[in-house]
Amino acid sequence: MTTMTVETLRNYINGEWRDSASGTLLEDRNPAQPDQVVARFQSSTPDDVAAAAEAAAAALPAWRAMPPPKRGEILFKAAALLEERADGVARAMTLEEGKTFREARGETLRGASILRFFAGEAWQPSGDTYPSANPSTFLYTTRAPLGVVTAITPWNFPVAIPCWKIAPALVYGNTVLLKPAELTPLTSYKIVQVLEDAGLPKGVLNLVLGKGSQIGDALVGHKHVAGVTFTGSNEVGRHVYNLAIDGHKKAQLELGGKNPIVVLDDADLEQAVTQTLNGAYLSTGQKCTAASRVIVMRSVKDEFTERLLRRVQAITVGDGLDPQTYMGPLVSQGQKDTVLKYIKIGQDEGARLLAGGHALDDAGRHGGYFVEPTLFDDVTPTMRIAQEEIFGPVLALITVDSFEEAIDVANGVQYGLSASVFTRDAERAFRFVSASESGIVHVNSETAGAEPQVPFGGMKSSSSFSREQGKAAVEFFTQIKTVYFDMPPAR
Ligand code: NAP
Ligand code: MG
Repeated sequence: MTTMTVETLRNYINGEWRDSASGTLLEDRNPAQPDQVVARFQSSTPDDVAAAAEAAAAALPAWRAMPPPKRGEILFKAAALLEERADGVARAMTLEEGKTFREARGETLRGASILRFFAGEAWQPSGDTYPSANPSTFLYTTRAPLGVVTAITPWNFPVAIPCWKIAPALVYGNTVLLKPAELTPLTSYKIVQVLEDAGLPKGVLNLVLGKGSQIGDALVGHKHVAGVTFTGSNEVGRHVYNLAIDGHKKAQLELGGKNPIVVLDDADLEQAVTQTLNGAYLSTGQKCTAASRVIVMRSVKDEFTERLLRRVQAITVGDGLDPQTYMGPLVSQGQKDTVLKYIKIGQDEGARLLAGGHALDDAGRHGGYFVEPTLFDDVTPTMRIAQEEIFGPVLALITVDSFEEAIDVANGVQYGLSASVFTRDAERAFRFVSASESGIVHVNSETAGAEPQVPFGGMKSSSSFSREQGKAAVEFFTQIKTVYFDMPPAR
């Protein structure tokens, strides 16, 4: 048996690692072996949030006044440090979130790319000059930071999502309160350490650990907070949004998805099968961009299904630290219960279980939150398993008779984050791109994936219509100032 020293994670407020005023610690557990405590962390209170907000407000004037390239240098250093520490960060992620080490390492390196991309944005133009109707006026725009920004992040991408919120917030001159999901405090802690070690001045980034239900309202509602960027569920997102708007704060939401893959009759089936498998089951289906519906044209349905089924049955489920594992556990008992509940709903609705459907609790997986990769056939578009976000390794196969029907089914949900089409026909590919009601469209690749240099976000119920990352990030984290500059008359 290996003995592990269990670290106690403190809040990071005004450049100091502090215990919460509550005196209470919460436990961070390994979803592959829930009796293993990975770390203990602060159960913060609104008083801790207030201290963090005061620190962030106090740090704002100097940070905002620092030339952007100097801020960029700090983010460049942080990117390099995160790369150096990638194995340790990835291991922490696998231990607390459950995804495989390979995926966790990939995400950590993506975090470094995000830091580096936004570091570079420090050297980009930040305004425009305009011709004025008045010959003596120099007319231009510049951008000002919002001020103190709260970032509330989910557990499923515990490096990438904090990085893609923190990095633009910082580079554009905001100071930050970060509240990571209670299921993944250790990974965020390591990100904050990286930024501290890269030389971030005190108070510029503050970490408040704990339960969203206890400190969420304080994080959104504090009088010093000017903006809130949130990624998570629609239910919590709506609450956060209403509270923010009520307090006249800028708010941005990235929410759920019910992402379709459309397989047309001329698709390369091997490519479509491989990409569908990855889209549906990597990260145990717990990506906001995971594929949860595959819409297949009848003429290729049998062959596609046969090939997909073979691949699903070959998926290895286990501890994410085991290099043989393709799919780790669900993140929590709650997620496991939800997934099993939806499998039952699917069966009750008359969908046909082709693969999976059960929890896995045998030797080696005992006690962990493991569920088999699950594939349903004969799903109709109105079934709940075809409409509601499950956030687990459950894929619904829907058969259609035409391209037009495929588009209607793909769009026939409240969500619109990501969508894929598989075809060799450029004309139908472009028609799909044009008709798709989703913020991200893939042609011949899976629904997941987010490169830092392009906008990311959804349509319909999947976001607040804003976009993160790329050149789009500046829109949320800054506000435009228009300047009419005239000289006094010559003396
Ligand atoms: P969640 O329950 O909504 O939690 C998200 C964050 O909100 C967590 O940090 C949570 O803290 C916090 N929170 C909880 N109650 C709060 C409150 N009353 N006020 C303020 N904050 C509060 O979502 P999740 O279960 O972590 O993540 C899964 C969801 O995220 C899925 O719906 C998924 O689709 C979505 N997601 C979307 C994207 C995207 O970019 N569109 C990306 C990833 C995930 P606690 O953990 O302490 O409760
Ligand atoms: Mg939650």
